[in-house]
Amino acid sequence: MKAREYRQPGEPGAPTTPNEPTWIPIPALTAPELCTGPTCGATIYKVPHPKTGNTVPVSCAVEGAVVPDPLEDIQGRGISHFIDCPDRDQFGRGAREKLR
Ligand SMILES: [Zn+2]
Repeated sequence: MKAREYRQPGEPGAPTTPNEPTWIPIPALTAPELCTGPTCGATIYKVPHPKTGNTVPVSCAVEGAVVPDPLEDIQGRGISHFIDCPDRDQFGRGAREKLR
């Protein structure tokens, strides 16, 4: 049995590195939103976290991320915006605690 490979175009079979971020899948139909952080304003996607089920903002502003495309039915992936948001304090202390 061979595990199903998850390979993206432009990513020629690069081996998974230890620094690979935790990717959160973004369904193709997820509508983009703007982060409400006062200095952020990044495009984010609110999706249920695969492990906790809580709705989390996901950012595609990192290398290796995939922007979802409803027209092409492309599932995206990104990282928790709690990690790269300059205004992450706005998400509340509870959210920050979970990161540690
Ligand atoms: Zn933000």
